[in-house]
Amino acid sequence: MKNYKKSLVDSDQVESVVCNVCGKEIKKNSFGYFDDFLSVEKKWGYGSPRDGETHDIDICRHCYEKLFEQFKINPIKRECLVNK
Ligand SMILES: [Zn+2]
Repeated sequence: MKNYKKSLVDSDQVESVVCNVCGKEIKKNSFGYFDDFLSVEKKWGYGSPRDGETHDIDICRHCYEKLFEQFKINPIKRECLVNK
């Protein structure tokens, strides 16, 4: 979950990010950037149990690794190999 800092001159900036799974704040590195994390926004459509809801999900690297271990299909995108 992102918390935004309101700005009158620029677009709102992300002030802090909290992992939706563990509830811990995702820290910034020494360069001022947030440690990498998974961010998904999903608007659930008609016919789903969450019809009309929009979910904004942020997951820290640690929690993502736990989720990754549960995948039955590897989500790592491979480049398409084309015969040349
Ligand atoms: Zn987490």
